Amino acid sequence: MEYLARYEPMTGVLNRASFTDRLSEALLQRQADEQLAVVFLDVDDFKAINDTHGHEAGDEFLKHVARCIQRLCGEDDIVARPGGDEFTLALRGRGADEVVDFVERLRRAVGEPIVIRGKTVSGRLCSGIYIVDQPTDMADAMHKADVALYQSKIDGKNTHRVFCESMEDAMRARWALEQQLREAVENERFELYYQPLLRADTGACAGFEALLRLSDGQGGHVPPITFIPVLESMGFINQVGKWVIEQATATAASWPSHLTVSVNLSVRQFQDQTLVGQVKHALAQSGLRGSQLELEVTESMLMENTDCIASQLKELRALGVSIAMDDFGTGYSSLGYLWQFGFDKLKIDRSFIAALEQNDSQAREILDTIIMLGHKLDMSVTAEGIETDHQAQVLASLACDHFQGYLYGRPAPASEIAPYLLDRFRGEVALAERSGKPATAGTGPTLAAAGK
Ligand code: C2E
Ligand code: MG
Ligand code: MG
Repeated sequence: MEYLARYEPMTGVLNRASFTDRLSEALLQRQADEQLAVVFLDVDDFKAINDTHGHEAGDEFLKHVARCIQRLCGEDDIVARPGGDEFTLALRGRGADEVVDFVERLRRAVGEPIVIRGKTVSGRLCSGIYIVDQPTDMADAMHKADVALYQSKIDGKNTHRVFCESMEDAMRARWALEQQLREAVENERFELYYQPLLRADTGACAGFEALLRLSDGQGGHVPPITFIPVLESMGFINQVGKWVIEQATATAASWPSHLTVSVNLSVRQFQDQTLVGQVKHALAQSGLRGSQLELEVTESMLMENTDCIASQLKELRALGVSIAMDDFGTGYSSLGYLWQFGFDKLKIDRSFIAALEQNDSQAREILDTIIMLGHKLDMSVTAEGIETDHQAQVLASLACDHFQGYLYGRPAPASEIAPYLLDRFRGEVALAERSGKPATAGTGPTLAAAGK
């Protein structure tokens, strides 16, 4: 009974209560120059190990982590598993560099693939380190190690972070954002903005990209690149992504039928195999044709679970939906992905377009090559982030098919689409009157006019 009260039976290390007791004691007795560090460890994506290999394999993996820790620890160190996939350590007699070295060695040891019931399992570890550098109590020391762990999770997992005071602010900001997101998800506080995409040959509006917006409560917006990864890590992206698909298809159903709507996807939306059903349902509900919907994926998404994503993309294409590779050129730019997945469209990342402005001659060559590659693989090519006439002219001369950027229109609420289209049509009529040629409804003005 005494053993059960003090130890965690599965791994044989201490339990939470014993750890806090022992740490409190160590902190009380600590002399000013005595080295002590509190380390919090967490297995990255432990749920995936459980889901893929089963709970028994998950248990075996945790025992493996405990063994790796015990192998590296000395007699004076305190090791515990407070629960789940977390371990807490108090390391004595090691300086900051030695603690970091310990944690790195542990991370490598845990990362070595092991065979559990005939299956190879490998896991990754995140660590938060607090080097005790002043008299403190157990709650404060644990809080600081936790803040450092949290920071290392945000910074990309499979890594470690050493606590510093500025992390507290980052953590508070993150908690506030999480709270805001929780509230936004519960009360459907998100909004979709739409940014126009134009045909390069006629300058006509070809469609709009739906972009997620979250109000910052002060008249502005929280940038999606800030909140989307948080929505992903909180497990909310499926719910929000489903809402985006429903909302975008319903809105686009009221547009002239030659206009398309593009929706960005997150890799997590492919994970539970419900995406195809969601898209089918949204098309049926809204009455939008499959060919009016375009889904955008990024290269980084394709690096894992390739087969699973490829089969879902195939099913989506069978619905008439087109698939675009977004932000091309920023990831691995793997030709394998382009060829294997059969994309309909390539969207060149705006960093290349921005480079044109600095008169970077290589940027022009790279753009030329990407556009040619896209065309050879039967894809249409869109340039993102066009802000100047010069960029538009260069891209037009390179036979880029579609243009998107602030030059043609910033993302705006759905209610501004009708006035936008009307405005463009008026521009076209004026232009036609000047040239003596008739204007065709819905094609919009030429690029030259749009640029003015
Ligand atoms: P993205 O899909 O590449 O979207 C284009 C981004 O470039 C948008 O940023 C847009 O406002 C911005 N942009 C467009 N033209 C210009 C320009 O001329 N100059 C500059 N400087 N920027 C321009 P935004 O709206 O902040 O979105 C950022 C990213 O967030 C998107 O990049 C996309 O990856 C992601 N995102 C947005 N909405 C969703 C969504 O509903 N679901 C998912 N999973 N991701 C989304
Ligand atoms: Mg996009
Ligand atoms: Mg993009």
